[in-house]
Amino acid sequence: EARRRAFVCGHPIAHSRSPKIHTHWLARYRLSGSYEAVDVAPGDFEAFVSSLASGAFVGGNVTLPHKEAAFRTVDRRDDAAERIGAVNTLWLEDGLLHGSNTDAYGFAANLDEHAPGWAHAGTAVVLGAGGAARAVLYALKARGFRDIRIVNRTLERARLLAREFGPAFSAHQLAATGELLGDAALLVNTTSVGMHGEAELPLGLGHLPDNALVTDIVYVPLETPLLAAARRRGLKTVDGLGMLLHQAAPGFERWFGVKPEVTPELRALVAADIVAKAA
Ligand code: NDP
Repeated sequence: EARRRAFVCGHPIAHSRSPKIHTHWLARYRLSGSYEAVDVAPGDFEAFVSSLASGAFVGGNVTLPHKEAAFRTVDRRDDAAERIGAVNTLWLEDGLLHGSNTDAYGFAANLDEHAPGWAHAGTAVVLGAGGAARAVLYALKARGFRDIRIVNRTLERARLLAREFGPAFSAHQLAATGELLGDAALLVNTTSVGMHGEAELPLGLGHLPDNALVTDIVYVPLETPLLAAARRRGLKTVDGLGMLLHQAAPGFERWFGVKPEVTPELRALVAADIVAKAA
């Protein structure tokens, strides 16, 4: 059988941590495939997708800024991609290009690993209403949350999401976060705040119940200001690196036929890369 090749395409692409993850798995499972970073400029995405029909690649990942273009371009989308409105995983099947979004899976699998039982809670507060928030909302709905409060600086974006996702979702102003936390079992940050060392969001973590779980999907730095504050308050926290690792697994399984494991060794490898680049 021919050596299977997969890719990650984006622009810029040098910063992507996906090659580290997938080449680690290829070596670990002694597979002869490859996983290659391809820089695809914004105007070249359509041409890149057309070139996939040649079968040179079995599939690949799509990252910024092409996730929405991939959503529009694929022949078939799964339910997650459909509802999230973006595609990050591609594969060829019976001559058709299929697209999925594995971020919701990655978000849930990370919490399954580090906070088992998290999904028994019914009430969650989600900070942010961007692309990543959509994946988190999809996951919370799939896991049966019944009261999901979307908080966003731009209230209108939260309103649009709440309307789209259904009656379990409501929209709120950032300034009101404290009042929303009193009976929340889960607080999720999906805003890019914390990534660039911006000031902490005005949250009022003191309102959260003692047994609440706080998670940030931002993973640079690994412990964001929000997670540090929650830890100091004695709350259980889960960082966003596990989401990145777990979201990679479904693609790898499709392309290479092995369901890969997210191990402490893989986590340490990628965490070291994050720390090295931050230094
Ligand atoms: P978007 O640009 O689509 O959304 C950004 C969100 O952050 C918006 O809700 C925006 O609010 C809010 N925001 C930005 N700056 C501020 C601020 N100063 N104060 C308050 N709110 C602010 O980004 P994405 O949703 O695509 O990504 C968000 C983060 O998630 C990124 O850091 C990304 O790295 C991370 N991520 C992590 C993944 C993982 O695997 N762990 C997967 C995907 C993303 P407003 O609407 O008002 O502008």
